[in-house]
Amino acid sequence: MVYKIAVLPGDGIGPEIVSEAVKVLQACAQKFGLTFKFREAPVGGAVIEAAGHPLPEETVALCRKSDAVLLGAIGGPQWDHLPVERRPEAGALLPLRQKLGLFANLRPVILYEALIDASPLKREIVEGTEILVIRELTGGLYFGEKKRQKIPGGEQATDTLVYTTPEIERIGRLAFESASKRRKVLHSVDKANVLESSRLWREVMDRLHDQYPDVELIHMYVDNAAMQLVRQPRQFDVIVTENMFGDILTDQASVLTGSIGMLASASIGGKVALYEPAHGSAPDIAAQNKANPLATILSAALMLRYSFNHEKAAAAIEKAVAQVLDDGYRTPDIMQPGCRMAGTVEIGDRVVEELLAL
Ligand code: NAD
Repeated sequence: MVYKIAVLPGDGIGPEIVSEAVKVLQACAQKFGLTFKFREAPVGGAVIEAAGHPLPEETVALCRKSDAVLLGAIGGPQWDHLPVERRPEAGALLPLRQKLGLFANLRPVILYEALIDASPLKREIVEGTEILVIRELTGGLYFGEKKRQKIPGGEQATDTLVYTTPEIERIGRLAFESASKRRKVLHSVDKANVLESSRLWREVMDRLHDQYPDVELIHMYVDNAAMQLVRQPRQFDVIVTENMFGDILTDQASVLTGSIGMLASASIGGKVALYEPAHGSAPDIAAQNKANPLATILSAALMLRYSFNHEKAAAAIEKAVAQVLDDGYRTPDIMQPGCRMAGTVEIGDRVVEELLAL
């Protein structure tokens, strides 16, 4: 079996972290007798000049005919002045998710033992944290109609927050299924005291709950969820929420893991799934060999698990990452006293070494 992987490095630290993940996948191929065929395609700010658009048609075509997509990150301040549809995020990331039908973003928030003291939160609060955040990815404010109009005294800007019953049902079902395979507790996060879309969200979740009586469903307002996440994170096992709340809460949750550079993600729902770190292109540290590649490497593990059904290889990557951290190697974002500072490439090399030694 040959697995075709579309590789989209993108901007900023994207190319650096993606090459480390590819290196680890190649080591997996060697260890587990798998065959990967990598094909690279441009996406994001770097391709705007050449292609006139951050998401060239050929890139979409390559993703569609691949078995999975590995993405770095896109965007940067040099493209912030462009009209919104040509900016890397709005012009490439959102349409790519939509074109591939990726309505669910899974973000496992896992705190590695060795990083407990790297979190800015106290050990007794974060220890044992393991949460799966399921974020709706193709609806809500990010995809609703936007407009601007002149009004006396200035302008009026409008973003529309739309959710339909089928959109909520499909993400809800996925969340209940995931919860029933774990601790059987599902937190559905909304803002039903204020937003109509959240009231529909809550009604649909309640109706779906009848089909999953073994799962405890807890509704929580997003402001409370933000507070509870840092106050008592262990109360959560699976969280499901709409697009923007999920975007914000997962960045917050990344702090529980020590750094946003540790948070992997899988976007699923269509024929081809997409794997990318939860962070952005970090232009402030690009091309300095400082970026933490572990979120991208762990995203590659999710690819093996969800797209290629190869649990053994996925678990081996996760074990190798844990070992590298146990051995004290750290990029600057997770540096701790007594540990050894390592660059992006060295961390990738160490993971490969540990993986092959398992
Ligand atoms: P960011 O996630 O890029 O960076 C936030 C902070 O976290 C920075 O200090 C950065 O140095 C640090 N950081 C991020 N990833 C890291 C890693 N792997 N290792 C070490 N440190 C890391 O978010 P931002 O600064 O808000 O956005 C920068 C650019 O990225 C913007 O253009 C934004 O639009 C884009 N962005 C892209 C994506 C994506 O491609 N999925 C997501 C979010 C933001």
